Amino acid sequence: MRKEISRLVEIDREHVLVSHIESVLSWDQETYMPPKAVEERAEQLALLEGLAHEKLVNPEIGSLLSALGSTPGNPLGDSGLSPEERAYLRALRRAYDQATKLPADLVTDLARTTALGQSAWVDARTNDDFDAFAPFLEKLLDLQRRKAACLGPDKPAYDVLLDLYEPGSTEAGIAEVFKSLRSELVSLLGKIRSRPQVDDSFLFRACPESRQAEVSQWLMDVVGFDKERGRLDTTAHPFTNTLGSDDVRITTRYIQGNLASSMFSTIHESGHALYELGIEPSAAFRRTKLSEAASMAVHESQSRLWENIIGRSAAFWAPNYSRLASLSGAVLEGVPLDSFVRAINKVEPSLIRTEADEVTYSLHVILRFELESDLISGRLAVKDLPAAWNAKMKDLLGVVPKNDAEGCLQDVHWSCGLYGYFPSYALGNLYAAQLWDRMRETLPDVDASLRRGDVSPIREWLREKIHKPASTWIPGELIERATGSALDAKYFVSYLNEKYSRIYGF
Ligand code: ZN
Repeated sequence: MRKEISRLVEIDREHVLVSHIESVLSWDQETYMPPKAVEERAEQLALLEGLAHEKLVNPEIGSLLSALGSTPGNPLGDSGLSPEERAYLRALRRAYDQATKLPADLVTDLARTTALGQSAWVDARTNDDFDAFAPFLEKLLDLQRRKAACLGPDKPAYDVLLDLYEPGSTEAGIAEVFKSLRSELVSLLGKIRSRPQVDDSFLFRACPESRQAEVSQWLMDVVGFDKERGRLDTTAHPFTNTLGSDDVRITTRYIQGNLASSMFSTIHESGHALYELGIEPSAAFRRTKLSEAASMAVHESQSRLWENIIGRSAAFWAPNYSRLASLSGAVLEGVPLDSFVRAINKVEPSLIRTEADEVTYSLHVILRFELESDLISGRLAVKDLPAAWNAKMKDLLGVVPKNDAEGCLQDVHWSCGLYGYFPSYALGNLYAAQLWDRMRETLPDVDASLRRGDVSPIREWLREKIHKPASTWIPGELIERATGSALDAKYFVSYLNEKYSRIYGF
């Protein structure tokens, strides 16, 4: 290995170490920290954040990257380097450019406006007062446009923002994929709504927290979560956080009258954790930028594949249902497996994205993608957002919010500066279904092994194709290598049609 690369790895590893220390502190803040510690914890985190930033903007990184031929136009660098070295340079170039291209005053402005915007959003949502949030949204949008102009002066602003979360993606590319998805989902939803609704009332019977916790621990074992390299704790909003390459923490929440909520959030977060724990580039690039997940959407593809495609399938529950019934106590007494599987797959258009089922979820995301693009480009004025939101809800889901709190004010993302992030959720669904399709083709025995209670072939396939290479490939390349074709919504559409025609009988 050339000495310039060794030096880059050395600097990069220090940055990764500091980031992981930050994760330890923020994980603790969300789980066990006593409330009065919040002020000093904020200072601790700010100090580390500054330190991490300093490490990443080190001009030595810039010179070493240039010496190896890596430029913004040719991030892979010299063609004589090995493919893995070139992939590493691309990943590092990306992180370095993102950290160095924004002028200091813009960074400060973004941080300040985002903090103010988020607190204004909390009040606006509580009081259902969009007008109070509107001026902040204007400012936030303006700053995002400026940010995009700094990061990619020759590209449309929304493309630059999308690329931050899904490297290599463009608005046109996503719009093309979403176009067919949109009409297919609307038509599938129409068919489902014409059929009698399934009964899921038993899922809301009381189930003590201690029993739900046992179920969650058991589910982690079922999917193969290595508890010597991670753990489960409780928080208001479930998340996964990587504290080290052998330390990935997940959280869930227990709601007395909603066993399914903790079950599926545990499987979902376990899917994220399996990804992080499966990352394994060659030893030379462990704990560097190459050891980071390929993207947000690829991450969501892993959590959603486990949660929905596996975790809500009849094949998964066939060998596991009796154990669930005994662990969860009286909740599932007298409920046959078949009724349980139908209940956990109930489809019902709702106003709130985070509560949406597998069919309607992506429609919530498409709505945000379309509105976000219109807001960033200025085609939609901020004052017209509530009406545009409601019109699209009616169009896509057939339901209309009674107020803005359950309409355009429901998500935190726009208030905290996450523009271009929403599509990742739906792209994750699409990647998941495309991977599943390919997996079934290459492992014809996969359904039978699920029915035997053995998920290891699935976990190993994902590990080889997706987890191990981490950031070696950008998402488009990764999916094409894993499945043999470019991203296409048709796999998700046929997965949904096949599954829901069985459940709803059409
Ligand atoms: Zn997730």
